[in-house]
Amino acid sequence: MAIFAPEISEKGGKPLEAVADLARGLSLWPVTMGLACCAIEMMATAAPRFDIARFGSEVFRASPRHADVMLVSGRVSHKMATIMRNIYDQMADPKWVISMGACASSGGIFNNYAVVQGCDHVVPVDIYLPGCPPRPEMLLGALLALRDHVKEDPLGKRREEAIRKAEAAALKA
Ligand code: SF4
Repeated sequence: MAIFAPEISEKGGKPLEAVADLARGLSLWPVTMGLACCAIEMMATAAPRFDIARFGSEVFRASPRHADVMLVSGRVSHKMATIMRNIYDQMADPKWVISMGACASSGGIFNNYAVVQGCDHVVPVDIYLPGCPPRPEMLLGALLALRDHVKEDPLGKRREEAIRKAEAAALKA
């Protein structure tokens, strides 16, 4: 705990909240969201060779109520989109999304009527991860980048504000 002391004192005044914010960033639990072949790499990331547990994210949750981050791993079919949004809505705030792979981010090779051309049409995405599929090291890198992001904005307030502005702009357009 001693190594966290400088960061806590920088926040000033509310050490308990500072500890909670640190804990939030250091234990991002993913909701289970394997959609296609990218999910195989996601599972490999959780296995001993790559060991996502080193970064506090080994607890894949079947219940969205217990999850902090959604790893969209694979192409999103239109049939799945509603379900995915439903799961996202059930996750408690603050929550984050990593779009894993070309198909999740843009539809990838599945440029057809059945597949959503980017999961950001369905849920707000914080980090886009390129590749087909991205390697487990890349997913770990994205997770570490997200951790830095959470450290800066532990309650996701800036993110929520940005989403509200984007939605308001879309409604005006
Ligand atoms: Fe499969 Fe490649 Fe698409 Fe991932 S990006 S879901 S590996 S086709």
